[in-house]
Amino acid sequence: MADAQRAVTAELDRIAPVIDALGERFAAAGHELALVGGPVRDAMLGRQHNDLDFATSARPEQTEALLKGWADAIWDMGRSFGTIGCRKGDWQVEITTYRSEAYDPSSRKPTVDFGDTLAGDLGRRDFTVNAMAVLVPGRVVEDPYGGVVDLAHRVLRTPGRPEDSFSDDPLRMMRAARFAAQLGFSVAPEVVEAMTAMAGRIEIISAERVRDELVKLVCAPYPRLGLRLLVETGLAAIVLPELPALALERDEHHRHKDVYEHTLTVLEQAIDLEPRLPGGGPDFVARFAALMHDIGKPRTRRFVDDGTVTFHHHDVVGAKMTRKRMKALRFSNDEIEAVSKLVELHLRFHGYGSGEWTDSAVRRYVRDAGDQLERLHVVTRADCTTRNQRKADRLRRTYDDLEARIARLREQEELDSLRPDLDGNQIMEILGVGPGRQVGAAYKYLLELRMDRGPMSEEEARAALLAWAAEQE
Ligand code: ATP
Ligand code: MG
Repeated sequence: MADAQRAVTAELDRIAPVIDALGERFAAAGHELALVGGPVRDAMLGRQHNDLDFATSARPEQTEALLKGWADAIWDMGRSFGTIGCRKGDWQVEITTYRSEAYDPSSRKPTVDFGDTLAGDLGRRDFTVNAMAVLVPGRVVEDPYGGVVDLAHRVLRTPGRPEDSFSDDPLRMMRAARFAAQLGFSVAPEVVEAMTAMAGRIEIISAERVRDELVKLVCAPYPRLGLRLLVETGLAAIVLPELPALALERDEHHRHKDVYEHTLTVLEQAIDLEPRLPGGGPDFVARFAALMHDIGKPRTRRFVDDGTVTFHHHDVVGAKMTRKRMKALRFSNDEIEAVSKLVELHLRFHGYGSGEWTDSAVRRYVRDAGDQLERLHVVTRADCTTRNQRKADRLRRTYDDLEARIARLREQEELDSLRPDLDGNQIMEILGVGPGRQVGAAYKYLLELRMDRGPMSEEEARAALLAWAAEQE
């Protein structure tokens, strides 16, 4: 706890230019202002924040007036919720009027009543570690629910009874899993119990809000913790049923791995490989593809007479299931296409054997992966969880070899913009035809030829085109 005190003091000194100036402005006008939630929690964890959230006794229009002349820019974050946003230099500030939220049980939308006390506002927050505040400019710490102790024990607890909290806002159950994944904290047993009993209530929350928490969870440092919690409480069965379905009972011969455990390991290995990606990570698309790559397995599982198990076409089936789930969660089309493409292609490399692919097969791999190629490298490499070190090393070297071949081909033939050797105009000219289906068919043929044989000279391409056209007649 002494550590938390030291950490918070250091962070408050760092952000002093903002909190002291703002605190004095509000105090001079007779209002309370307190730093709350994430920045207080993270200050105690020794983490810095340039997004500063405050709570205040001032009403939104008073807040706005007090920010004028101080902030560089001011905006309304939703006046009915009482939040005014502003920017001051590098600082992003949100100031929300104290709330005493009352939820109409028949409605999905909380109705907001402004409150008068900081204690009342803190009591409506999701977890005790998020329900701490520092009043400014005096820097008095308010911690009515023992957040500092829970922070020291690294545990998530609700300020009041978890049943009441989740009944007020079921999204908090998703938030428990998200914060577990972000902070690496455990969740208090009574909170887990309430989540388990009330999991079904998540259905009244909009898909978008559930999705946003899921994305934060998956992009967090410890997604395994959050995902496990979702599965164990039954929340995953509602928001991401494909995940718990991976826990297949083993067949009596124990011939195949536990797909659920395998999947969590693949996700963690994908995270370890993220530095290879252009953005460096966290990369939601690669992580979610790792999570979804085998979801076609339960549906395609067949027991063969010799005691083995097969999962034929689980890549294609899994890609379809991925699309459906992501649509239901209202992901963007770009994200849906990217993740489902990775799921669909995650097995392709296994046809590479020990390097038997022709250049043509390598070109097709690059073309089919398109702009997901770097992520496909990550997901495919991550999808090796064998404990047999020699086998793992061999697979890694084989994939190194494939990447080296791609680099070589790329150098030789501008692999990224694969086009036939003749364009549409040239095709029309050579064949003496106008625009139409034949030109399209010829273009496609030449592109396939380009894949198979690599670049050709114009004469070679012209001869090939004429031979193809003669065959069409
Ligand atoms: P992050 O660093 O991810 O922004 P955060 O703690 O700031 O973490 P937010 O989702 O931005 O999380 O919420 C800000 C604060 O508002 C939280 O710390 C919490 O006190 C409160 N809060 C947000 N959503 C809820 C909710 N659904 N129920 C109760 N309190 C909430
Ligand atoms: Mg925040």
